[in-house]
Amino acid sequence: MKDTTRHQGKRRQLVQILKDKGITNSLVLKAIGKIPRHFFMDSSFEHHAYQDKAFPIAADQTISQPYTVAFQSELLEIEKGHNVLEIGTGSGYQTAVLCELGGKVYSIERQQELYKKTKLFLTKLGYRPRYLSFGDGYKGLPEYAPFDSIIVTAGAPYVPKPLLAQLKIGGKLVIPVGDDPQIMHRYIRTSATSFEKKEYGEFRFVPLLEDKN
Ligand code: SAH
Repeated sequence: MKDTTRHQGKRRQLVQILKDKGITNSLVLKAIGKIPRHFFMDSSFEHHAYQDKAFPIAADQTISQPYTVAFQSELLEIEKGHNVLEIGTGSGYQTAVLCELGGKVYSIERQQELYKKTKLFLTKLGYRPRYLSFGDGYKGLPEYAPFDSIIVTAGAPYVPKPLLAQLKIGGKLVIPVGDDPQIMHRYIRTSATSFEKKEYGEFRFVPLLEDKN
């Protein structure tokens, strides 16, 4: 795996594309400018790694589109040291972005093949998420709750109650909800029993499936 000047140049162009599409958070842009996305993809797609598109990874899943990664990351408003939970580790690219933003990152993946592969790979790249879990994201990770931020990177038919319950007061859940396409939602927990909800337009994700595989 090599990160050549050509790759770096293409990455700078990708960052510009994201800025043109409205991403403003400089830490998010910096993370995307730093992480070699082509390392997270199959070698057959490597040449396309810096296009603003989703691509297939193992187990019939996808690495999210960079704009989607940036948009969700921006909505989370992560601060250094925040407890962050990701549902859908997949390739680990979004996990790496969350680590670059300074989060203490927990991530759940339901496909064993991806879980094993990505766990080894992130370590190899030098990323140190707090905990990678092979399990069902619908349940969250109650043993590590509460979280400042929870990000769901697969399309959810509904908002899983355990995820709302595992937010701190002031914590944020960013989740695409619905069938194809999904509507991006952000929930902010305003008290023990209340949440503020806002919608952020259409996105397309692979489905959030129940149980592990
Ligand atoms: N963040 C990933 C996105 C991968 S696609 C990336 O940037 O590469 C969504 C991922 O969610 C897939 O890997 C899929 O297996 C996983 N997934 C789907 N349902 C899940 C569930 N209930 N719990 C945990 N992971 C799930």
